[in-house]
Amino acid sequence: MISVVLPAYNEESNIEPAIREISAVMEGCNEDYELVFISDGSSDSTYSVIKEASAKDPHVKGAEFSRNFGKEAAIFAGLSLASGDAVIVMDCDLQHPVSVIPEMISKWKNGAEVVEGIKNSRGRESIFHKMSAGLFYGIMSALIKIDMNSSSDFKLLDRKAVDALLSLPESNTFFRALTFWIGFKSDKVFYDVEERRSGKSKWSTKGLVNYAIKNATSFSTLPLKLITGMGWIFIVFAIILGIQTLVRFFMGNSADGFTTVILLLLIIGGLMMLSMGIAGHYIARIYEEVKGRPRFIIRDTVGGLFDDTKGF
Ligand code: UDP
Ligand code: MG
Repeated sequence: MISVVLPAYNEESNIEPAIREISAVMEGCNEDYELVFISDGSSDSTYSVIKEASAKDPHVKGAEFSRNFGKEAAIFAGLSLASGDAVIVMDCDLQHPVSVIPEMISKWKNGAEVVEGIKNSRGRESIFHKMSAGLFYGIMSALIKIDMNSSSDFKLLDRKAVDALLSLPESNTFFRALTFWIGFKSDKVFYDVEERRSGKSKWSTKGLVNYAIKNATSFSTLPLKLITGMGWIFIVFAIILGIQTLVRFFMGNSADGFTTVILLLLIIGGLMMLSMGIAGHYIARIYEEVKGRPRFIIRDTVGGLFDDTKGF
């Protein structure tokens, strides 16, 4: 049996088309399937649409969060509620084309335990969005040594990979990169990002910046090492400059003026604050982890999903 996990935040108009198109593909593949919608604290009628669909079609299942916990949480809730031998994660705005599902399934049947959906093109996005995404994924790719710019949340995971992901204890997850981190035999399918069926993208620029910072700091300690590196460079610089200043002082012609002092103060002050900010982000991550709160809280489920799942 194959589960399809669909995070949905205010997607009332996309639920029905998603059910129709995915069901058609699954029937076409002759696979038993379930569609697990996770309504991420939607404020529109997303969850009631899911409930109505579930009453008509036993393949449709759903859960609703008590509030908006974010797409990562919705994906992990879906993974923990899904009972398939393989789980496909995809957006319910149908930007991830259903037409590549059969290829994903056949790669899984040929032994791949993780099938990554790789974007041929990023679809229509603003230049600013493309550039910032390029920068963020460029850095992330360097950190984890995998090309992240074209990777996406569109994946098929074998049960083994799903269980491995669910066994990770951290509450700050980064699904897109963790599927590489857990290892397993992986394969790729390529797709073109489609136009959003209806409604608007849920990402704001602020949201994207936060997402980038959160993921970079929860996935890598490189920024901390960079601070140390910067410190060393400055110490070497300080020793050279210190010797030069002292020599000039004893020779009777000390460095003149406030300009040097002001410049040094500004540069060092700026770098110190930046470093403290970076370290602060790590402390924030630790603080969040230490609290040990669940990744999400489920308010209600429909279609026979366990309702004692209160988050992991
Ligand atoms: N989503 C979610 N919770 C959120 C934001 C988004 O579950 O807080 C879902 C959304 O319903 C969609 C998917 O994540 O199915 C991708 O979101 P969106 O289409 O807004 O992002 P984009 O495709 O523009 O990157
Ligand atoms: Mg989308």
